[in-house]
Amino acid sequence: MNYNEEKQALVNYGKKMSTEGLSSGTSGNLSIFNKESGLVFITPSGVDYQKTTSKDIVVMDLEGNIIDGDKKPSSEWHLHTLFYKNKPDARAVVHTHSVFCTTISALRMPIKPVHYVIADANSIEVPCADYKRYGTEELAKSAVKAAGKSDAVLLANHGIVVCGKDISSAYSLAKEMEYVAEIQYRAMSIGKPILLTDDEMKEVAEGFKNYGQPKKEDK
Ligand code: 13P
Ligand code: ZN
Repeated sequence: MNYNEEKQALVNYGKKMSTEGLSSGTSGNLSIFNKESGLVFITPSGVDYQKTTSKDIVVMDLEGNIIDGDKKPSSEWHLHTLFYKNKPDARAVVHTHSVFCTTISALRMPIKPVHYVIADANSIEVPCADYKRYGTEELAKSAVKAAGKSDAVLLANHGIVVCGKDISSAYSLAKEMEYVAEIQYRAMSIGKPILLTDDEMKEVAEGFKNYGQPKKEDK
């Protein structure tokens, strides 16, 4: 078994998460789900992202049985596997303790539609899950329950977890939600933010269908 592509992608995005300030120390974790094989590739627990190599990535099945790797998997493996079990399109999960998301999570408040890019989470707001201790199955259950259809959910007094169709989309979503959380924090610091309405958010979601360059098949 090698699956070098998945393992190397996790190593690269782990470094990016650390250098771009989404994670301090060994906080946060990332995984990729390969649906065909049913395998989950996940970062090891408590290993510095700058020192992690593809040999450190742990391979497990959706039940948490270790298939390959000699490191202990991320303590949040329940969170990652439960996302894949409940979100049929999810192929990558990113969890961070990014500062602004964590700040909003300490208020146990959702990230609100203070900026239209929140629509990338397939939701008009990013809910905040009930507090449960890190690394527990209870935390995973509370996160999945609070997320509902949203691709992003805050973890009370802890951070954020997001999913995407691949690791690049999941990582971008984690960055975007940190941006929206920062805008919410800044706006709340100087006044009462005016929120986009449900209709305005529907319009944005419609617009996003054609955002950017046309796909090849549309030409
Ligand atoms: P791991 O190092 O075990 O992945 O834990 C980091 C973390 O963010 C726990 O919530
Ligand atoms: Zn965490």
